[in-house]
Amino acid sequence: MFLAEKGYCNLCHRSEAIHMRKYSGERLCRRCFIKTFERRVAKTISEYDMFHYDDRIVVAVSGGKDSLSLMDLLARIESLHPYSELIAVTVDEGISGYRDEAVEIARVEARNKGVEHMVVSFKDQFGYTLDEMVAVLKERGSETYPCTICGVLRRRSLGQAARAVGADVVATAHTLDDVVQTYILNIVRGDLVKPRAGRVENQLIPRVTPFRLTPEKEVALYAYLKGMYLQTHACRYASTSSRNLIRFFLSDFEAKHPGSLFTALRSLERMPLPEKTTVSMKCRICGELSSREACRACEILGTVSGKVRKTPSRRRPRLARFVK
Ligand code: SF4
Ligand code: ZN
Ligand code: ZN
Repeated sequence: MFLAEKGYCNLCHRSEAIHMRKYSGERLCRRCFIKTFERRVAKTISEYDMFHYDDRIVVAVSGGKDSLSLMDLLARIESLHPYSELIAVTVDEGISGYRDEAVEIARVEARNKGVEHMVVSFKDQFGYTLDEMVAVLKERGSETYPCTICGVLRRRSLGQAARAVGADVVATAHTLDDVVQTYILNIVRGDLVKPRAGRVENQLIPRVTPFRLTPEKEVALYAYLKGMYLQTHACRYASTSSRNLIRFFLSDFEAKHPGSLFTALRSLERMPLPEKTTVSMKCRICGELSSREACRACEILGTVSGKVRKTPSRRRPRLARFVK
């Protein structure tokens, strides 16, 4: 799937090309692909000022190809900075037939790279696995999608784990494709805020995305070429995700118009959307920062336990203003 048409590498002119970057027209051999891939990630880190020399970095490792590649790269970068530290955190949501395999892969890869590894689970933190929550919510007739529960609680889990280990920054493996999808999802959902591109110091631990200028396909190729063990099972809830609609549209568009994702990201970053504001309220239930009286995580957990009613979101626009 990755092989380029026959020909020599445009950079070294010595080895046979294995990949063609359609958006730039470059044909690259294995060695040059890896070299340019790593150089681009290093440039992204410096362009967005993602890390400081003495950071305690938490890298979120789900066990998938993207996060394994990120851990591999950050482990090598961190080894060049004696004052920094790297800790891998895997969140086990409790998805049968899927997450067990991923957690094991993350454990093995972290051990092979000499990275400290920690696993936190929904069951321990919230009292339920994702599978249990989905079953209860279905019984109660809730329309909350599994991926929504998973995303909200995974962010919470990761934040708690990062605080527990005293992290200065959290790195996630969101790729160019993920970042553009998120911008578009925010727009179609009415959350007209600009996701933060670089590192912003406020009361939360900053999150950074070193793959934000790297297409997902290239991350997959990197993981493959580096011989990483790739997961064989897909998440059983993946097909229910509304993000898929945007993902399919964007990847189809990119295939027909190579380079569109880069253009989209740069245009979206320049758009005069409001930045995410610093939240000053605290959730009345868990005390975490929240833009609402009860945070989204407590709202979900309250619905699962049958204790909390939904509080209206303050960020969503009132449809009545637009629909006459
Ligand atoms: Fe979670 Fe959805 Fe991803 Fe499955 S597909 S791991 S439920 S976000
Ligand atoms: Zn080459
Ligand atoms: Zn809360």
